[in-house]
Amino acid sequence: MKKRVIILGSTGSIGTQTLEVIGQFRDRFEVVGLSTLGHLGDVVEQARTLGPQVIAISDSETAVSARRLIDTRQTTILEGPEAMNQMIAEWPCDMVVVATSGSAGLPPTLEAIRRGRDIALANKETLVKAGHLVVALARERGVRILPIDSEHNAIFQCLAGQKIEAVRRVLITCSGGPFLDYSLEQMDRVTVAEALNHPRWRMGPKVTVDSATLMNKGFEVIEGHHLFGVAIDQIEVVIHPESICHSMVEFVDGSILAQLGPTDMRVPILNCLAWPERLNSPMQPLDLCAVGRLTFRRPDLERFPSLSYAREAAKTGGTMPAVLNAANEVAVQRFIEGRVAFGDIPRMVRHAMDHHSVRLSPSLEEIEESDHWARERAEEFALDRPSR
Ligand code: MG
Repeated sequence: MKKRVIILGSTGSIGTQTLEVIGQFRDRFEVVGLSTLGHLGDVVEQARTLGPQVIAISDSETAVSARRLIDTRQTTILEGPEAMNQMIAEWPCDMVVVATSGSAGLPPTLEAIRRGRDIALANKETLVKAGHLVVALARERGVRILPIDSEHNAIFQCLAGQKIEAVRRVLITCSGGPFLDYSLEQMDRVTVAEALNHPRWRMGPKVTVDSATLMNKGFEVIEGHHLFGVAIDQIEVVIHPESICHSMVEFVDGSILAQLGPTDMRVPILNCLAWPERLNSPMQPLDLCAVGRLTFRRPDLERFPSLSYAREAAKTGGTMPAVLNAANEVAVQRFIEGRVAFGDIPRMVRHAMDHHSVRLSPSLEEIEESDHWARERAEEFALDRPSR
């Protein structure tokens, strides 16, 4: 039987790569539903190629246009901010791929877990903001969260068949991004185009900027803590510019297991889609001899303060990771718009964190309140900056 899949964020970077992988295994997977924020041309083409039962389009105008271009006898088009939740509630499937960018991924992920659907998770904010709620609900409903992110997918593979008590450390690798060797002064002059040009990975703009500040890696530490139940202090970040070793797990007996593979998100995507099986990938195999050398070094926390802010937020817990995430989301958006400098991104995050009174064990409502609060604090910082 085919695995029935719903893809949230099907027109984004992970979404399109997921569809590419599914296209190679049409006998194994059936695309039940898609969602997009409002990328009309792309979603129309996906609908024509795949003929899904349903498409959720957040932007109502795009939905109206889509109804004119897509055969609505075959495909139902849902619209509005609740469309993703409605799709998940009303269309049965075996797996939901959460490939949305930003905070919009959280409500439909919770809805999918409530419905007992397995999750292939590429959205970071879900676990960063509300990891304790998401993981507790998944445990209660017996839902498996399979991580698409290359690092967590690597850790997931290294942990297979192992006891979590046997883990000494988790080593998350990090390419270091485009500014690995920049001075603090150089970083303040970085342009948007430079920040969007990642040396190793092809990704959407938000995560590409987060990879340049290393906030992305900070998020991954928080996510790893929730996904695998290891303490923040057990998780270390290792700079590995070649991006061939996607992460490692060190066990109490001194063994370190690593997962290696091509620098290509289609590998972890296929791993999640196929789990617990492994499918024969048509991709070019990795030639380690052509790579030649793998190097590892410690990150510089002075030049990349976002990494320590994320660890600090994770250790504080409660609403603080949501504040970190929301302030960062605003800061990255303002940077992409050219309104603040690259170096302002961690400053805006720090500003919000410094003014936040943490609530521990927050509800989803309290998390959303802190999220809104942090966005306002970050905005007020951005307004104080001279325009560039
Ligand atoms: Mg990653």
